[in-house]
Amino acid sequence: MTRWIDETLHPHFRCSLKADRVLYENKTEHQHLVIFENATFGRVMMLDGVVQLTDRDEFIYHEMMAHAPILAHGAARRVLIIGGGDGGVLREVLQHRGVERAVLCEIDRAVVDLSLEHLPTISRGAFDDPRVELVIADGVKFVAETEERFDCIIVDSTEPVGPAAVLFTRAFFEGCRRCLNRPGVLVTQNGLPFLHPDHLRGTMRLFCELFEDTATYLCDQPTYFGGPFALAWAANEPSLRKVRLAALKERFAQSGIETNYYSPRVHKAAFQLPVYVQRLMTG
Ligand code: SAM
Repeated sequence: MTRWIDETLHPHFRCSLKADRVLYENKTEHQHLVIFENATFGRVMMLDGVVQLTDRDEFIYHEMMAHAPILAHGAARRVLIIGGGDGGVLREVLQHRGVERAVLCEIDRAVVDLSLEHLPTISRGAFDDPRVELVIADGVKFVAETEERFDCIIVDSTEPVGPAAVLFTRAFFEGCRRCLNRPGVLVTQNGLPFLHPDHLRGTMRLFCELFEDTATYLCDQPTYFGGPFALAWAANEPSLRKVRLAALKERFAQSGIETNYYSPRVHKAAFQLPVYVQRLMTG
């Protein structure tokens, strides 16, 4: 019998993906996790009824979450990833030869283990890189307690419900500010501004109180149905966002990194916001 798996993120409408073959389905210590195959999107991972990633389109936000802050910084050596247990952001971060250390703090070990087993093309060996330390812990606790300082912090979290609700709080962002080097930049995933405007509005209010420079940039993620996907930006040095296109082009060319979505021009354009998103920044 054909099985359709609903995404239950939105209260008034549902999207469904056909599950041609379910590879794993169970409750982990923290959330309900299902990995299945879909003919259009390839392998799909859902947590608590929300699509996290698919084989086919994961490159989009993984590239935008990793390359935008690292190339804007220009000399990032230490990178912290909160969440992202599938290893996709980590894979992109490690492509930067200048990165000497990457710490990935994920609350749910099962996400890492099951991604390695069923979605190995996402991390592509990233967890075996000697520059990487995997920490299984709550991100809020980690940023409050670590003695390390980071040039870039990338928060690849689930939606602000369940274990990730704390990753959208003042306490968490204060912790991030605490362990950010100067210059340093923090980026967070902020969902779909059209469907969940309060997520972005709430984050931007806190960012404006805590950081010298704040912004939103967008990407189009086919499996996050409902308009462009928002990534929030907070830096203690405004020049990072204002980096010139020519400088980005040079850094990108020197990195030798091949991408499928990110380019220096896309980077600059991503910060140009439609009016309805711009209003959330100040509203
Ligand atoms: N980019 C995806 C999205 O936007 O839906 C998220 C992918 S990644 C799988 C999200 C990860 O954040 C999950 O593996 C989840 O376990 C982790 N996570 C949730 N809350 C966390 C917390 N408090 N500390 C650390 N990791 C957390």
